[in-house]
Amino acid sequence: MSSPDTPEPLADDQVASIRDNLDEVAARTATAAEASGRTSADVQVMLATKTQPAPKIRVALEHGFTLIGENKVQELVAKADDLDDLEHEAHLIGPLQKNKVNHTLRHAHCIQSVDNLELATKINNRLEVLDQTLDIFVQVNTSREDSKSGIAPDEAEALIAELRDHTRMRLRGLMTIGLPGRTPEEIRPSYSDLRELREKLIGSGAMPAEAKELSMGMSNDFELAIAEGATMVRVGSSVFGARDYT
Ligand SMILES: *Cc1c(COP(=O)(O)O)cnc(C)c1O
Repeated sequence: MSSPDTPEPLADDQVASIRDNLDEVAARTATAAEASGRTSADVQVMLATKTQPAPKIRVALEHGFTLIGENKVQELVAKADDLDDLEHEAHLIGPLQKNKVNHTLRHAHCIQSVDNLELATKINNRLEVLDQTLDIFVQVNTSREDSKSGIAPDEAEALIAELRDHTRMRLRGLMTIGLPGRTPEEIRPSYSDLRELREKLIGSGAMPAEAKELSMGMSNDFELAIAEGATMVRVGSSVFGARDYT
């Protein structure tokens, strides 16, 4: 169990604080879902666990949350063993380099950051070899600003059309990341744009009707994202506190 890099056990008040925060996020999610004519069952809460040590994540999984998202393949791999005994699903929500596909497929239940054909083809080919299938989201850059990740909205249709013969991958929907440091109202258009894009792509038949999920919204704006139709919100700091990047 213990290894040189096993983190210190958590203090009781840290555990209590994570549990309280989880309860609050769940309550706010339910309220926002109901306000948009849905129920809490329609909106999944993903815990964004970047930089968080495994013991903190374990508290959340033991508290009944089952969905985590990691940004870096390295962290996904490093924490996998420590979380192995607790039922959960881990998604990759950060950029994926082609040379890390194999590692990722060993531990991720879903890749939310598919944003180019070359990467998609690499993933699909590897899945063929492994005789596996995988859930994915196409990440779209709806923030109208330069950003390295996410395909431009007007290129999403062509990419999604190409994915049709990538039969090892099951497209669940679209994902976007709001730019940091913006007010919720400034971020809102990037969420409504993602919803409108989904409607357009499903309406035209470019995207299968089952691919209706929208992964969007973070600690500062998840209620707004739910109001815009999010089916999955990704919260980190409001559960675990500020991240320690040291
Ligand atoms: C960090 C992160 C989140 C969560 O951010 P918080 O503001 O801590 O809730 C959500 N999505 C992605 C892709 C992230 O990197």
